[in-house]
Amino acid sequence: MSVTHDVIVIGGSVSGASTALLLKREVPDLRVALVERSGEFDRKVGEATTEVSGNFLAKRLGLTGHLTHHHITKQGLRFWFANDKSDDFGRCGEIGAFYQVRMPSFQVDRQVLDQHILDLAVAAGAELLRPAKVASVDFEDGVSVVRVESAGKPTELRARWVVDASGRAAVLARKFSTLNPLPEHPTNSVWARFRGVADLDGFELRSRYPEYARACQASRTAATNHLTGYGWWCWIIPLKGGDTSVGIVYDERLFSLPPGESLGSRLRDHVLKHPVGRELFETAEVVVGDVKAYSPLPYFSSEIAGPGWQIVGDAAGFLDPLYSAGLDFCSWTVSAAVNRIIMERAGGKADYPDINARFLRSYHAWFHALIKDKYHYLGDADLMQAAFIMDIGWFYFGPVRELCICPKGGFERFPFEGPIDGAVAKFMAFANRRLKSIALKRRACGTYGANNLDHRMMVSGFEPTPKVLRAVLKGVLLWLRAEWKTLFLRIPPEVTKNPVPAAVQ
Ligand SMILES: Cc1cc2nc3c(=O)[nH]c(=O)nc-3n(C[C@H](O)[C@H](O)[C@H](O)COP(=O)(O)OP(=O)(O)OC[C@H]3O[C@@H](n4cnc5c(N)ncnc54)[C@H](O)[C@@H]3O)c2cc1C
Repeated sequence: MSVTHDVIVIGGSVSGASTALLLKREVPDLRVALVERSGEFDRKVGEATTEVSGNFLAKRLGLTGHLTHHHITKQGLRFWFANDKSDDFGRCGEIGAFYQVRMPSFQVDRQVLDQHILDLAVAAGAELLRPAKVASVDFEDGVSVVRVESAGKPTELRARWVVDASGRAAVLARKFSTLNPLPEHPTNSVWARFRGVADLDGFELRSRYPEYARACQASRTAATNHLTGYGWWCWIIPLKGGDTSVGIVYDERLFSLPPGESLGSRLRDHVLKHPVGRELFETAEVVVGDVKAYSPLPYFSSEIAGPGWQIVGDAAGFLDPLYSAGLDFCSWTVSAAVNRIIMERAGGKADYPDINARFLRSYHAWFHALIKDKYHYLGDADLMQAAFIMDIGWFYFGPVRELCICPKGGFERFPFEGPIDGAVAKFMAFANRRLKSIALKRRACGTYGANNLDHRMMVSGFEPTPKVLRAVLKGVLLWLRAEWKTLFLRIPPEVTKNPVPAAVQ
C-alpha cells in the first residue's frame, strides 16, 4: 500500500508539535503531518515546568527567547501551611527557596506556548490539518491508515508511523484497550484563572509583615505556590499578563470540595479558608468561562510502542500534578518516539517490549516513590519539609544532573528505569510510606500539623551536582526526627477502638 506521509501525529499541542518539530529538524526530508482537532488552543493546565521540562523547551527545542519574552521565569516551589490555632498570614509555615533558582524553568501560558511550537513545526515543513479530527486508525500491511474528518469531509492518510499525542483522548490506547485507571490514587482536580490576585512580593504584604519580607530574597510570586491541608493542595501559578492559575487537587478518600453555587465559587471559597489564600484572593475574581475539572486524574497505557506506532505525552498516561511532572513525561516520551523513528528510518529495529517495560517501570516507580498516599501528609509541615527536600534533592541528583551532563542523551531514558535509580525509587517509596504512617499516627493523636505555624524552611538552592546529596541527607535527618517525635505518642483509647477506616490506611 502506498503512503501519503512518513509520520502522522495525532494532536498538535505541546507533545505532538514538539514531536513534529524535532523530527523535521533531525530528518528534514521526512514527510510529517500533524492533525489537530481544535481550531485554536485555549488555556490549559500544565503551566508550571520543572528543570527537566524547562530544559526540554529552552534547550532541546531552543525556545529560550520565546520563553523569556512571553512567559514567566519560575522561582521554584513554595509550600504554605496553617492550622486551626491561628489564621494570621504572618504565622503560616513556609517552605521555599531563599535565593532565585539556578536552573531555568518557567510558568507558561499554554495557549501561547503550544501555538508557538506548532508554528515552528509548520515552518520546519510539517503539514498541518486543522481543525481536523482523527476518527480512526487501522494498521494494514505495515501501513497506518488514519481517517481524518475536517469540515464534515473525510480524508484518508497513510503513513509508516503514527504518533499519538492526543492527550486524555488517548486515541491509540483506547483502540488497543491498553488504557488503565489507577484506583490506588483517587484524585480529582478543579481549576480556574483569577484576576486581581494580591502580590506576594508587593508593598502591602511586605509592609504589614516585615519578618515575612526579610525572610526571603527570591520572588515568591514567580514560584509555584502551594496551599496545603489534609488530603488536598492548591496550586497558584502566575501567568504573563497578570492572570493567575489556581487549582485544587484532592484525594477523595480524605477530602471533598464543599458544595457551592458553581465550581469556580467552590474553589474560591475553599482557597479563602487558608490564611495565605485569604490575603491573596479576597478581592480576586474568577475569569468567566475559564473553569474546568477532571476526575479521576491518573491513568496509563500498558503499552506505548508497537510496530508502526508510538504514544507520547498525556496520551501515554498521567499521574498527578504535584511537582509538575506532566511536561517532564511529555519530554521523555516525545524523545523516545523521535529517537525510535529516526533509528528505524536509518534501518534499525526498535525494541518495543523494552520501551514498554521501561515506561511502565518508570511510571509505577514514580508513583510509589513520590505520589502514593502523599495526600495524607501534605498538610503537615514537619513531614512535607522532609519529603520536599529528599524528593527535590533526588530529582536534581538524577534527571536534572543527567541533562546537564548530556543535554540530548539525558532525555533518552525514563526516570527510575535502571537498576541504580530503581533502587533509589525503592528507598524513596519506603520513606514515603513511613511519612504516611507518621501522619496517620499524628492524626490519631491530634498532633497532625502542630508545627505548621511560626516556622520557615528557606532552602538556599539545589544544584545538579553530587553536592545535592547533602540536601537529601538533610531530608533523611528531618524524616528521622519526625519518626522520633512521633514514636512515643500514645494513640488515645477511643481512637484505638475506632481505627482509621481501611480505605484511608
Ligand atoms: C489538574 C492538572 C494540572 C497539571 N499541572 C501541570 C503542571 O503544572 N506542570 C506540568 O508539567 N504538567 C501539568 N499537568 C499535566 C499537563 O497538563 C500535561 O502533561 C500536558 O498538557 C500534556 O500535553 P499533551 O500535548 O500530551 O496533551 P494535550 O495538551 O492534552 O493535547 C492533546 C491535543 O490532541 C488534540 N486531539 C485530541 N484528540 C484528537 C483527535 N482525535 N484528532 C486530532 N486531535 C486530537 C487536542 O485537541 C489537543 O490539542 C497537569 C495536569 C492536570 C490534569
